[in-house]
Amino acid sequence: MAFILFVITLLWVFQLVIMPITYQSEKIANIKSVGRIISAEIYNENYKEIFDQAAYDNGISIKITDYEGASLYEVDVLAGGSAIPNDENNLMDKYRTMILESPDNRIQLIAMNEKLNSTTLLYATLIGTKEEPLGFIFLDTSLNPLVSTMDILQKQMFYITLTLLGSGVFISLFMARAISRPIMKITKSARELAEGDLNVKFDGSGYEEAEALASTLNYASGEISKVDSLRRELIANISHDLRTPLTMVKAYAEMIRDLSGDNPEKRAEHLNVIIQESDRLALLVNDILDLSKIESGNQIVTPSEFDITEKLKEVLGRYTLLSEQQGYVFTLEADENITVNADVLKIEQVLYNLINNAVNYSGDNREIIIRQKNLPDRVRIEITDHGEGIEEELLPVIFDRYYRAEKSRRDVIGTGLGLSIVKAILKAHSYPFGVESKMGEGSTFWFEITL
Ligand code: ADP
Repeated sequence: MAFILFVITLLWVFQLVIMPITYQSEKIANIKSVGRIISAEIYNENYKEIFDQAAYDNGISIKITDYEGASLYEVDVLAGGSAIPNDENNLMDKYRTMILESPDNRIQLIAMNEKLNSTTLLYATLIGTKEEPLGFIFLDTSLNPLVSTMDILQKQMFYITLTLLGSGVFISLFMARAISRPIMKITKSARELAEGDLNVKFDGSGYEEAEALASTLNYASGEISKVDSLRRELIANISHDLRTPLTMVKAYAEMIRDLSGDNPEKRAEHLNVIIQESDRLALLVNDILDLSKIESGNQIVTPSEFDITEKLKEVLGRYTLLSEQQGYVFTLEADENITVNADVLKIEQVLYNLINNAVNYSGDNREIIIRQKNLPDRVRIEITDHGEGIEEELLPVIFDRYYRAEKSRRDVIGTGLGLSIVKAILKAHSYPFGVESKMGEGSTFWFEITL
């Protein structure tokens, strides 16, 4: 509305204030130029045609007189409203004196004709010199068209103002409805979201951008509520898994206090359970810490160059005890030694987690194969077991935090965080990774170190 008022004011000022001023100066310039034409052409043979044309073109009455005021040439386009001297108005003497008294022998004045209620601009100049005056040129043009034009303009301006104000009101209302309202609705929903209502729906219907914003916010709130439910699930799972060993520790400690304290054999047995359960607890807590550190980005990747083949050998070396005591067979099928640039400690953790899983889920077939394939721009590492395998529908979620196949929940040692840690580390390196598995035939977990 303010903008419309500004435009209207501008229009009014231009049309009604500046216009008349420029109109008058236009007219003066106009009349002067005709004056010049006349002075120049006055001795021309065809002066009559030239003057007639100039008079007609510019709407200017022209009269050329001798010194006494007798007409030599005359054309009147103002039809009686003219201020040019003639036999009736007896103005000749007055004008003659005025012209002769003026320093440059010319006058210019605005004359009112009361009878016709008209205004004209009169311009008169001397032919010859003061000492030798020959005659006079009178030019007269009406200023009335301006008055009528102004009338029309004023009416027009009135309607334009009305229309503009009307459409201004309309546009403001429309904008308020179409633009502000959806945004206000979205703001309200965003506030509700911030206050914890994760089921809030964003409604931005109205115009395209607001709709896009609303749907983005809907997406964001959907993701937030997903994360939120994951968090709840995680806390539930973790507390469950923390409580079980804690209950065991407490139960066995009580048992030692009340029953087996004096029986060294029983006591040692019970203490062993306590130690085992504490280990489990420590494992779980460590995994949780690792995962949250990696995921929160506190632990950034610090790459260094190392020989991945040697690293594989070194890691496998630590499983010797397991192969000697429990009959696991670890086979390393490696291409040529190759140097990679990665965070050595984290890659080591990935290897441990994958090999531990292979061991834990290999069932009766205790053969585990580790492969290193050198590809043109990357090194592919595969860990294959011939255990139970993973159900096909579980493959997409297996790397998700805290996912554990239900049946393996209690019987195998593990925290359900191993693969999430693997995923977090490999993602931090932006290495591709995955798993292929068939029920009953075993699984192959793989990742690729880009060179
Ligand atoms: P967990 O501590 O339970 O091993 P992980 O995150 O390492 O947790 O693994 C998640 C789940 O994926 C496991 O509970 C298991 O069901 C499945 N899994 C992982 N590795 C294998 C494997 N090599 N063979 C079969 N199942 C596996």
